[in-house]
Amino acid sequence: MSRKIHIFDTTLRDGEQVPGAKLNKRQKLEIAQQLAKLNVDVIEGGFPCSSPGDLDAVRAISRQVKGPVIAGLARAVKEDIDIAWEAVREAERPRIHVFLGSSDIHIQKKLRSNRENAMEMAVEAVKYARSLCDEVEFSTEDGSRTDFQFLCRIIEATIGAGASVINVPDTVGYALPEEFGDLIQRIREAVPSMDRVLLSVHCHNDLGLAVANSIAAIRNGADQVECTINGIGERAGNASLEEIVMVLRTRFANYQATTAVKTEEIYRTSRMVSRIMNIPVQPNKAIVGSNAFSHSSGIHQDGVLKDRATYEIMRPEDLGMKQHTIVLTARSGRAALKHRLSELGFSLDSEVFERVYNRFIDVADRKKEIGAQDLQTIVEIEVSKVPETYKMHGLQIMSGSKMVPLASVTLERDGQLHTDAATGNGPVDAVFNGIERITGVSGRLCDYDLKAVTMGRGALGEAMVRVQIGDTIYSGIGTSPDVIEASARAYLNAYNRYFANGGAEVIQSKS
Ligand SMILES: [Zn+2]
Repeated sequence: MSRKIHIFDTTLRDGEQVPGAKLNKRQKLEIAQQLAKLNVDVIEGGFPCSSPGDLDAVRAISRQVKGPVIAGLARAVKEDIDIAWEAVREAERPRIHVFLGSSDIHIQKKLRSNRENAMEMAVEAVKYARSLCDEVEFSTEDGSRTDFQFLCRIIEATIGAGASVINVPDTVGYALPEEFGDLIQRIREAVPSMDRVLLSVHCHNDLGLAVANSIAAIRNGADQVECTINGIGERAGNASLEEIVMVLRTRFANYQATTAVKTEEIYRTSRMVSRIMNIPVQPNKAIVGSNAFSHSSGIHQDGVLKDRATYEIMRPEDLGMKQHTIVLTARSGRAALKHRLSELGFSLDSEVFERVYNRFIDVADRKKEIGAQDLQTIVEIEVSKVPETYKMHGLQIMSGSKMVPLASVTLERDGQLHTDAATGNGPVDAVFNGIERITGVSGRLCDYDLKAVTMGRGALGEAMVRVQIGDTIYSGIGTSPDVIEASARAYLNAYNRYFANGGAEVIQSKS
């Protein structure tokens, strides 16, 4: 007999807290729809009281995304809970997720309070949330560093107040697997009413142990794990959803626990989150990294060709890494493109479809053959676009081994063309300088990542950048058969995010 483990996805809440990963409503909806296809049990849509935009986005998810429970996060205060309820009330299955620091350091330093007051606050908040919503989750923030007796008392009291899920987070990523597993077991033993509710964990990856701690918790009686796609999240990130799911599946005999996740949707979800949030996946990332299934040593290759079980413990097909062979060319019309997109699982509204079509023609003119991965990349980038204050119109580069690189950039704004030229340390730097000259805004490049999306010399290049403008980091993504153009598009995408954010057009001195 196997136990079911509930998968609580917090990509859109904890994951969105990564600097530069802020999403708009359409982007959140797109990811939430994919999480529903992946069949997670709970989608934490956001922290609705953090901004009117987030409230609006979580409300849209509640209205449109069917299947999973939709949760909204709230601090243990009435106003937050009201806003969270506003955001989730129209969901098929709404949940309010209330949290309060329970460790002494959080109670004393953050809340400037004492244990008794914190206890009262938690109970009142859960009671109030429960008066609005049937499903209330309570999180003992910094649970792994909370005094054990107090932790049990606050859990007991909030269950009494109506919480149906109790979450024990390792907020700072300090716990060790044996210790965290032991904590979960002791909570189960010490709190008899625990049997009536779900026990959840939420692990962070500061010591690289988030997945190990989550698995240890499952082994010791946790019913729900909170996790994110690609393990993104605050600081070193959260426990990675795909790793937890595949550990339970691949080593089923050890844990006798299953999830409802449709693993064939994992790869697609991973790519979509990476693109839309502009956070690259490291090539050696377990399960979803681009090298996760590539065998480079000759001995391994030989073995895999003879029998895949020699070196592969999972099949790439199980994660949805299919090799699509049908290719499109610039002569494929709108109908063929639409058909191919629907095969790949995309249903786009007509405005986005037109943008995808135009971009497809532009790329196909230069790249000749467009495969599934190219198409997927184009769609994901178009979907993740913000309103474009500036559009890329033209680019010319002069570069060589014995000359200072020079770029001429033409951008379009409100139908007007603006051209400027700049030099730089390299062609990419020259283009970035050209963009800065036209927009009149200086940024600092914090991160730059360039890779080929597909194989071979005709590969589509994909650039991801993170640019600091003022105090805020904006990320951008761009793709093109020409890597300099891909970089320029990515840089411009970050700038457009800045302008979409109401960016003040002041010239800041470049550091
Ligand atoms: Zn967290």
